[in-house]
Amino acid sequence: MPDTDRLRALLQRIDGRSYPAYRDLRGRWDLGEVTVIIDHVQGDPFAAPSRIRARVDTGIAADIRSDPDARLAAEDWLLRRFGQRLSSTRRGSGRSGELRVYRPGPEVVERSAVRLGADGWAEVRFSAGLPAAGRRVLGREAWALLAEDVPRAAKNLWAARDPSLREHVRSVKAQRALRRQLKPNGLVAFLADGAILPRSSGVSQAPLDGAVPLVSPDSVRVTLETADGPVSGMGIREGLTLIVGGGFHGKSTLLQAIQRGHLDHIPGDGRERVVARRDTVKVRAEDGRRVEAVDVSPFLGDLPGGRSTAPLSTDDASGSTSQAAAIIEAISAGAGTLLLDEDTSATNLLVRDERMRQLIPRDREPITPFVERVRDLHARWGVSTIMVVGGVGDYLAVSDTVIGMDAYVPRDLTARAREVAGQPPEAPEPLGARRAARVVQVSSLRPSGKGRVRARDERRVDYGNEEVDLTAVEQVLDGAHAASLGHAMGWLAATQEGAQPLSALLDALDAAIDEHGVEVLSPHREPSGSLVRPRRHEVCAAISRLRTLRCEP
Ligand code: ADP
Ligand code: MG
Repeated sequence: MPDTDRLRALLQRIDGRSYPAYRDLRGRWDLGEVTVIIDHVQGDPFAAPSRIRARVDTGIAADIRSDPDARLAAEDWLLRRFGQRLSSTRRGSGRSGELRVYRPGPEVVERSAVRLGADGWAEVRFSAGLPAAGRRVLGREAWALLAEDVPRAAKNLWAARDPSLREHVRSVKAQRALRRQLKPNGLVAFLADGAILPRSSGVSQAPLDGAVPLVSPDSVRVTLETADGPVSGMGIREGLTLIVGGGFHGKSTLLQAIQRGHLDHIPGDGRERVVARRDTVKVRAEDGRRVEAVDVSPFLGDLPGGRSTAPLSTDDASGSTSQAAAIIEAISAGAGTLLLDEDTSATNLLVRDERMRQLIPRDREPITPFVERVRDLHARWGVSTIMVVGGVGDYLAVSDTVIGMDAYVPRDLTARAREVAGQPPEAPEPLGARRAARVVQVSSLRPSGKGRVRARDERRVDYGNEEVDLTAVEQVLDGAHAASLGHAMGWLAATQEGAQPLSALLDALDAAIDEHGVEVLSPHREPSGSLVRPRRHEVCAAISRLRTLRCEP
């Protein structure tokens, strides 16, 4: 009997029976153009929804399927396309009829929700609330859901000759081409002329209507190549770049665009020509966070009472300590560019002014402010910084480039800044060798209790009985991304052992994802549809905030 008839017969047979009868749906159903695979059937209509996959031939051309960058772009396009057509119809009580697929923001990243195979078939992973009246099976409604709603959305993935797919692929490839040219050109970031940086509101990622498009100052304009021809815009060089200007002139907006530049964006986002190196990490103050065994001595010398800061552990870090820890953690995970905004930094970590230097002698002040280290970070450790400063002029004397934002228009103020800068601060002892990464006791990464990992909201993850607060990790995209960081920690706890340098753990994670895809982090046997590829820097940030983390002393 063909699967279609078998499915109809099954649903007729279990119609009106108690909900667990749905278990017989598990398995693969070949419904003509669309194959539906039911991996998990929920226990009752109010439980977490059932997990389903649909497979369909997309007809996407071989040149896209065989090029990894193009395939990633196509998967992103397919996911958005599927989401457009996937609509929930209320089909009974509780979550009956609810269909959910991961809804991506404007970033293009590797995700598990859609995969495109070398044969042109796509697999979409999503969830469904199987229909019930009370706790009784609604067979006819289930038929409509599985044999009509799902295939309708899946058939929308036939994309053989769709021009918007080509445009999506072209755009992502161009962004990657731009990003690859950063390092050879001594750049850490690039913002093409015409980019739209501001978002429509604090809670929306849509571009702001009527925004002033970016225009590069001539003196910092560079031209990079893409397959579609040259692209000109503002090049931000290695070293220290300051973004200055009056309040509300667009400084933070510029930095926020750069802090998403390690990822590609969809065409029309406005930031699809804003690229930063992959190892660009935003760091900020976060008082109250836990810090475990971080050698913060470049910024924080011995504490009163002789307590050493090499390494320092605390359950309740101050603003300056938390930001110093964030900087050292980021660098030890491989950050090559740091992003700081004065608005979210601890002032006493950034600077100490002349009067305070006179009042408090150096040997009574454990903090070495960032302004005294930032040049050495570049010269000795090869780490560049882009920093928004509104009020602290001390940085002018140590900067390489100064960009002034004036009513959203960037100007090159480097020469003028030289004139007013004055003397650089008296230098402390130079930075020593780069710090070795912390050695993590892998068992301390294990989630406690039942080991459940899930997003509590956009920025907090329930990790076993712990909560990991990622509010200050600004490069986390959404709840699915946050949960993926939790799954990455769970994967490390389950697959690694003993005590290992954090950098080695992050390498192992990257290698596993490169080889098996982000699905390797799936908490279930079958691939789950809600994984977002985590970057090592965010995994490091999550591990560093885990309150159970223990490192070798
Ligand atoms: P600053 O950090 O300099 O105080 P912000 O970056 O926070 O300023 O920007 C202030 C306001 O201006 C924000 O509401 C932002 O959306 C808006 N804005 C930023 N850039 C532009 C632009 N290019 N065009 C129009 N509005 C902008
Ligand atoms: Mg600001």
